[in-house]
Amino acid sequence: MTGPVDVLVIGGGINGVGIALDAAGRGLSVTLCEMNDLASATSSASSKLIHGGLRYLEQFEFRLVREALTEREILLQTAPHIIWPLHFRLPHQPHLRPAWMIRLGLWLYDHLARRDRLPGSRTLRLDEHSPLQPQFHLAFEYADAWVDDARLVVLCAMAARERGATILPRTRCTRAGRERGLWRVQLEHSDGQTQTLWAKSLVNAAGPWASDLFSTVLPGPPPARLRLVKGSHMVVPRLHNGNEAYILQNEDSRIVFVLPYEQDYSLIGTTDVDYQGDPAGAIASDGEIDYLCAVVNAHFRRQITPANVIYRYAGVRPLMAEGDGKAQTASRDYQLLLNAHDKQAPLLSVFGGKITTFRALAEDAVNRLGKHLPQATGPWTTKLVLPGGDFGEQATLSASLSKAYPWLPETIVQRYVRSYGTLCRRFLQGCDILNDMGEHFGAGLYQRELDYLMQAEWARTADDVLWRRSKLGLRLTPEQQTRLERYMNVRREA
Ligand SMILES: Cc1cc2nc3c(=O)[nH]c(=O)nc-3n(C[C@H](O)[C@H](O)[C@H](O)COP(=O)(O)OP(=O)(O)OC[C@H]3O[C@@H](n4cnc5c(N)ncnc54)[C@H](O)[C@@H]3O)c2cc1C
Repeated sequence: MTGPVDVLVIGGGINGVGIALDAAGRGLSVTLCEMNDLASATSSASSKLIHGGLRYLEQFEFRLVREALTEREILLQTAPHIIWPLHFRLPHQPHLRPAWMIRLGLWLYDHLARRDRLPGSRTLRLDEHSPLQPQFHLAFEYADAWVDDARLVVLCAMAARERGATILPRTRCTRAGRERGLWRVQLEHSDGQTQTLWAKSLVNAAGPWASDLFSTVLPGPPPARLRLVKGSHMVVPRLHNGNEAYILQNEDSRIVFVLPYEQDYSLIGTTDVDYQGDPAGAIASDGEIDYLCAVVNAHFRRQITPANVIYRYAGVRPLMAEGDGKAQTASRDYQLLLNAHDKQAPLLSVFGGKITTFRALAEDAVNRLGKHLPQATGPWTTKLVLPGGDFGEQATLSASLSKAYPWLPETIVQRYVRSYGTLCRRFLQGCDILNDMGEHFGAGLYQRELDYLMQAEWARTADDVLWRRSKLGLRLTPEQQTRLERYMNVRREA
């Protein structure tokens, strides 16, 4: 038997990698297993917002909103390449929410937590240049932040690895039981090989699988119930020219975001549909797409139909089950449930948890585990800078890259800045002309970048690259995607 690790984490979504990173930074030995690619489930299917959640104020979720707003400030400096400010416009619909109510909500939003980086809210008169229909005269503007959710997961995993953690994507946890005061954990790799690991503590960060894990992998009944709520998004050609996002109020009291996406597109979502079955099977239904089109068409001058949809995706929110209210009003807060009775090896389960609050959740989780792992040092992640985030302004980094690599097209520089930050220097090093970047797979994806993703960021399949490490799946033709897949297969075998 090899020595036990201090912490074994099941699940490579944002909460699992967040906990692995926090624990590794406290001097603990950590292994994380993820049955598919990192961020392959909920953590790449979000609305991609680091936000306090303005609408949660309607449900009096002050604790959650305050924590999320505090985290927004911290995360803006943790990862300035993949997280940046985003201004939202909320067109006024007096029959849905009166102006005083929205102003009160925005005042709270401005003041619930310290705010250094983002401006406060304001009221805005809409003129004929607005992309909204002419009946909208007034809007409220406030700021939140955008995040590349899947890259956030990968960067946290890289940061954990830098601190000694072992990250095992494509490795399923098939069984875990307590034995001799430790956890004995069975893992199965994608090639069918199995492995047994021993751990002093176990973390169940399986997102929407966290409850089911107790019937398949973990002993005992689940400590709580999850409510699974599907949310879908669609991507259409850009609906408007500005950099602002829109938050639209629908007649059913739900809100829908229209977000500027990948330069040329708009990302529109989401829905709230109660979900049963395997979370991996969630798809955006035609009904949801019709619904999203209808909300957009009730607000924007430009009208859309499902035929305009270039891409759609769905994710399943793991929410704490509390009553049978509407799915949209179910709490987005989280619970950490620790099972460590009678000096047994601890099991910590994560139920719920937003991307925005992952750092705070992870800190809380490792504080609790740390009580059973005396060598653990104290919290440290408020000052964390994720790999590639060691720069000031995006514009400054962009200018410095353009100067160092004048032959690199501007659109590629912009994408590198917003995907890799300073990490792109790793694969640009030694290149003096565009040809040095190797084979071109389309849409500015060169061999150098691809090799880097395979070597340093656990990319193995074309989908890992096209939809999680980047969003180039929106741009590469089917033929180009096949060529990419072929190249990756050959390289993997080499
Ligand atoms: C539609 C939608 C929109 C959202 N928008 C936002 C937003 O804008 N901002 C925000 O902050 N939050 C948002 N969220 C919430 C956020 O995305 C999730 O709460 C968060 O991603 C959950 O992360 P997780 O790590 O808990 O779960 P996941 O990301 O689902 O990770 C769990 C992982 O566990 C793995 N796993 C399961 N079983 C096993 C096993 N036996 N062995 C190994 N691995 C296993 C799975 O493969 C999976 O990758 C949104 C969610 C949805 C669905």
